[in-house]
Amino acid sequence: MLNGLARDGGLYVPVEWPELTTEQLRHLRGRPYTDVAFAVLKPFVGDCIDGDTLGAIIADAYAQFDHELVAPLVQTGPNEYLMELWHGPTLAFKDVAMQVLGRLYDHVLGKRGQRVTLIGATSGDTGSAAIEATRGREHADIFILHPHNRTSDVQRRQMTTVDAPNVHNIALEGTFDDCQNLVKAMFNDHAFRESVSMSGVNSINWARVMPQVVYYVWAALSLGAPSRSVAFAVPTGNFGDIYAGYAARQMGLPITKLVIASNINDILTRAMQTGDHTLGDVHPTMSPSMDIQVSSNFERLLFDLYDRDGGAVAALMEQLAQTGAFTIDPARVAKAQELFAAERVDEAQTLDVIKRVYDRSAHYIVDPHTAVGVGAARREHPAEPQVPMVVLSTAHPAKFPDAVEKAIGHRPALPDKLADLYEREERFEVLPNDLNAVISYIKQQLA
Ligand SMILES: *Cc1c(COP(=O)(O)O)cnc(C)c1O
Repeated sequence: MLNGLARDGGLYVPVEWPELTTEQLRHLRGRPYTDVAFAVLKPFVGDCIDGDTLGAIIADAYAQFDHELVAPLVQTGPNEYLMELWHGPTLAFKDVAMQVLGRLYDHVLGKRGQRVTLIGATSGDTGSAAIEATRGREHADIFILHPHNRTSDVQRRQMTTVDAPNVHNIALEGTFDDCQNLVKAMFNDHAFRESVSMSGVNSINWARVMPQVVYYVWAALSLGAPSRSVAFAVPTGNFGDIYAGYAARQMGLPITKLVIASNINDILTRAMQTGDHTLGDVHPTMSPSMDIQVSSNFERLLFDLYDRDGGAVAALMEQLAQTGAFTIDPARVAKAQELFAAERVDEAQTLDVIKRVYDRSAHYIVDPHTAVGVGAARREHPAEPQVPMVVLSTAHPAKFPDAVEKAIGHRPALPDKLADLYEREERFEVLPNDLNAVISYIKQQLA
């Protein structure tokens, strides 16, 4: 958790998967979300954190959600369900893991008497989820760089209206890539990195994947597991969310299919259908949290597809860095296809899905990321209509009002807890796209 990335540049994965036995799953049926979370997380945490403390961390994290079920299911078709993962503070699914991660950090750093400086770049959802998880915590300061005037108003205000002394927003005069490059440069400036105990908030941290396994188990139990199998469709960017579904399946959850849903940034669809993993340009879409070419967590799946041969995966990653491409060999693609399907949903189809769901499901509104998931699910589901298909609903529609308005003609209202978002005072510092300017601002704030 504290390292994030392994020293050799690889990602951490469990040596072996803990097993969720049929008996254990039966026992968890009908239990609250927090009980399911405890059962799933405990084997990963082991003796590092005692049971009472872990239970308290989980209870406190999910008390921040405004729905008693944490991740409720809504039926949108015959055997088709949406799992609403956006009842946390920032209206996107990243809260599910971040709220746990922030508390785990605080606990572990407190025990060690350490303090860290979290520095991250965001194009939208990750920054606000990280800020909400860190606000007011004792053992961390957080600095989030966002591109000045290039995020949505809702996304920016969710970051800049948080009033806590350990939260610092930097509006960089540049693009998201500039923000990310500066964060990388700070990580590589070892003197700076050590002087402020810099740490990251990126999605490859194992402790962010782990709490996402829980809601797959939760949904499957709600729909009849272990006696019944379930399929999932997942709007995918960095492959973190859907990899958690793969982890659930490795742990014994009866999952028949995981559908990778991508927008027109479809490198994963190509890789999964043909083995061709060639980087392209990033195209901006209505579902910006999936506008990604390098899906960092995909490396974790490759590791298993290559029979846990770290050398083989390192060679692929090296090839990607050198040439911008690699090819997955056909036998391994075939193995992946036994569990994974992949679908690309373009912009017009995304709008069409938002409209269709609205018209046919009592004016229920899905956000554009979720719509990509629904579009993909509906292409795959006919193959096995008797298996419930759960689409992960990753954001509240009010986070992306422009796309929703384009589809159905009006803007969704912000939920009550954010109704006054536009009246709250904003705090951020506009800085030039210059490493030294950013470093000296951070040092000055910490002092
Ligand atoms: C981050 C995000 C995604 C993509 O999740 P990954 O774990 O990166 O695949 C999808 N939808 C929304 C709303 C997000 O914020």
